[in-house]
Amino acid sequence: MLMQTRGVRIRPGRIYTQRDLDRIPELKRLPDEQRLDMRVVASVLPFRVNDYVLEELIDWARIPEDPIFQLTFPQRGMLAPATFERMAGLHKVQADQSAIDALAAEIRAALNPHPGGQMDANVPRDNEGFKLPGLQHKYRESVLVFPAKGQTCHAYCSYCFRWAQFVGDKALRIATGNAAAVCNYLRRHSEVTDVLVTGGDPMVMKTRLLATYLEPLLAPDLEHIRIIRIGTKALSFWPYRFVTDPDADDLLALLEKTVKAGKRLAIMAHFSHWRELDTGIARTAIQRLRDIGVEIRSQAPVLAHVNDAADIWSRLWSEQVALGIVPYYMFVARDTGAHCYFEVPLGRAWEIYRNALKRVSGLARTVRGPSMSAGPGKVEIQGVADLKGERVFVLRFIQGRNPDWVQRPFFADYDEKATWLNQLRPAFGEKEFFFEAEYRAMEDGG
Ligand SMILES: *Cc1c(COP(=O)(O)O)cnc(C)c1O
Ligand code: SF4
Repeated sequence: MLMQTRGVRIRPGRIYTQRDLDRIPELKRLPDEQRLDMRVVASVLPFRVNDYVLEELIDWARIPEDPIFQLTFPQRGMLAPATFERMAGLHKVQADQSAIDALAAEIRAALNPHPGGQMDANVPRDNEGFKLPGLQHKYRESVLVFPAKGQTCHAYCSYCFRWAQFVGDKALRIATGNAAAVCNYLRRHSEVTDVLVTGGDPMVMKTRLLATYLEPLLAPDLEHIRIIRIGTKALSFWPYRFVTDPDADDLLALLEKTVKAGKRLAIMAHFSHWRELDTGIARTAIQRLRDIGVEIRSQAPVLAHVNDAADIWSRLWSEQVALGIVPYYMFVARDTGAHCYFEVPLGRAWEIYRNALKRVSGLARTVRGPSMSAGPGKVEIQGVADLKGERVFVLRFIQGRNPDWVQRPFFADYDEKATWLNQLRPAFGEKEFFFEAEYRAMEDGG
């Protein structure tokens, strides 16, 4: 029996984008200058927020430092000072929209819109050798599916690594509208056990549409698909999706049917801060999912201004465990968009992870991290050590382009400023890391 939803307020949901910045009631109390700063940044980086985030997640007494405000609203520091001034100049003289758009396009192109070659890295081919857009098959046992209509989100994270696809350039989208092609591919790949449906946020899709991706996976010819994961931030940005939306009950029924068909179904929930777990509606949504046998795991990047403190993570993980959510990943954010504003050096990220882990139940120590999803694989910072008179990072692959790279400790010179794998140098005088030659050969091989 599903948990009753009577008495829970139905929220139709109001969405605000860049054009509506002047209409957001809560912003009216800000000084004009600060609102103008937001308009300037929002003309470059995508902005979208809803009334739930505004009214229930942001603590307006604490802005601008409030973490959810930082997570969703444009801030002046997100653009380099000179870039900001150029765009602000156009706004000050009330330049044409076309001039603003042209400058925005130029600035965006310089913000590394596609970190790690997301556009075509690891895109598999069908029988005839045609690329299957919207699929990624990087690690043997798991395939990522990007449904075309799931490539937006209920609200936008200001640190989003998929921001480029939100600013209107359709060519930048990596998505498939073709669930049949996905299934054909999976039928021919019996080594695949895991399907990860991701986005954007697949939970922006109507249940009817999501069903076109999930239901075919339940057929006997796809028995080798045993685990289905859905990546979403809806539990944070729009928990009503699972409770009072017109097709919320249909969604729960679809997920329950998937579980009853014998699949392990996990919601990979993106939670940036414990505040997102603190509302009645979020808790109701979590409980409803758990009631039908859906597992919830959590993941998020560690970010300056949002969650770069150990006590935020220990509270986040502790709350999650109490609510039946399994902490899974702490990520390192990729170098894209407003990365300069959010970046946390690797050494600092590891300290946050370690100090948070010290204070939590063993049930929360399932979480891996901090991890970088880089070209060669998912690399975790396991620690900082002093070995043979050198200070080094101890690293390991959690997933590798070659499965044999997994779990072999390797070492890099400690660098307190480094924020990504490609800035690290091998320790102990080695010329390159153990996987590099093989990875280069793979890349050249296409
Ligand atoms: C993280 C990731 C997966 C899943 O890896 P797990 O270790 O199973 O969580 C699959 N594909 C890609 C491209 C990934 O980045
Ligand atoms: S939920 Fe994920 S895809 Fe959506 S805006 Fe946030 S980081 Fe980007």
